[in-house]
Amino acid sequence: MTRISVFGATGSIGQNTLDLLDAGTHTTVALTGGNNIAQLAADAIRLRAEIAVTAHDERLEDLRDALAGTGIKAAAGAGALEEAADRPSDWFMSAIVGSAGLVPSLRAVRHGGTLALANKESLVCAGPLLLSEAARHGCRILPVDSEHSAVFQALVGEEMHAVEKVIITASGGGLRDMPLADLARATPAQAGTHPNWDMGQRITIDSASMFNKAMELIETKEFFGLPASKIETIIHPQSLIHALVQFNDGAMMAHLGAPDMRHAIGYALNWPSRTHLPVERLDLARVATLDFHAPDPARYPALEIARSVMDRGGLAGAVFNAAKEAALDLFIDRSIRFTDMAPLVKRTLDRMDATGCLDAATMNLDMVLQTDRQARDVARDIAATF
Ligand code: NAD
Ligand code: MG
Repeated sequence: MTRISVFGATGSIGQNTLDLLDAGTHTTVALTGGNNIAQLAADAIRLRAEIAVTAHDERLEDLRDALAGTGIKAAAGAGALEEAADRPSDWFMSAIVGSAGLVPSLRAVRHGGTLALANKESLVCAGPLLLSEAARHGCRILPVDSEHSAVFQALVGEEMHAVEKVIITASGGGLRDMPLADLARATPAQAGTHPNWDMGQRITIDSASMFNKAMELIETKEFFGLPASKIETIIHPQSLIHALVQFNDGAMMAHLGAPDMRHAIGYALNWPSRTHLPVERLDLARVATLDFHAPDPARYPALEIARSVMDRGGLAGAVFNAAKEAALDLFIDRSIRFTDMAPLVKRTLDRMDATGCLDAATMNLDMVLQTDRQARDVARDIAATF
């Protein structure tokens, strides 16, 4: 039986993953979560996990109580997360949100097997490092982002030299119809509502600002090894086409499906086979039309910043992600406005680039983590002047 671990099991991707698992078909090694101890314990019991880990040390007693008498080990904190990631598994879901997911992703690839990668931050911060570690240990990484799973599926049986362009779609997010002049007053609650997808709060706000799509452009470059000039995004409000690949003979392969992450998760779980999945089937006659338009750079400045990060390379991705996470924290706290996030990320990148600290011929984990911490400090410093 396949041994499975799910990191970030209590989150949106984590819960959609567990929805596809049952104790009879898989052996569950580790499940991890945060403050939702009741959910973590219930899932660990249902799936008969070996170990359940909460990220928060102070919640260990609660987790122990919830698992008392079950034989499931309870643990807490960063060290316990690493120890759990070191337990051999064949299929590892990396679905912690933010750069906190990087270390578990790096530990997971050491088992060989499959890394189902939802934590796009791992690729944005440290793509070359993660990919070289995966290659060294014979680990296959399968993308669990709807767009990247779509591209991956469109490329089955194709040769990369024939790819002219990859286009990932964007819904436009929760504020797409808000007049530009009102964006500065948008609240976290408004930005945290998505027209099509049900996701965690952070990625939902990142969808409204298009920082999510900006991250995904970088994720596409890293994962598929394509130059930035071959990667585009287009607004497609229905979120039914997730990505398209254009080939050198003019053909375009599009991937369509209902906006349900269980598709990308299930594809990564069953790969290279396909198996029945409980996701909605599209009724194209009812869908009737598919709309597209180019993103407005004034509304979505994050996309241009992502282009500069792709051109810059090195540790620019780590700075970009950390500054974006810091900006998002400040926006959620209402310390800065929605429209301050992009200028804050850009100024953080410019300031750190000017010190020459973004060059990295070869990247290692310490450099990435140090750059991450430094970029958060610089971003908070700059934000204090807003
Ligand atoms: P979420 O906020 O719903 O869940 C995050 C999970 O990570 C929770 O289990 C939480 O307890 C855990 N966590 C948070 N901070 C942590 C920390 N510092 N240390 C350890 N654990 C921590 O997030 P989500 O929407 O499920 O997103 C998870 C990842 O998947 C993100 O990288 C996101 O970009 C990516 N992703 C999500 C979706 C989606 O539909 N939600 C789609 C594509 C990609
Ligand atoms: Mg996506």
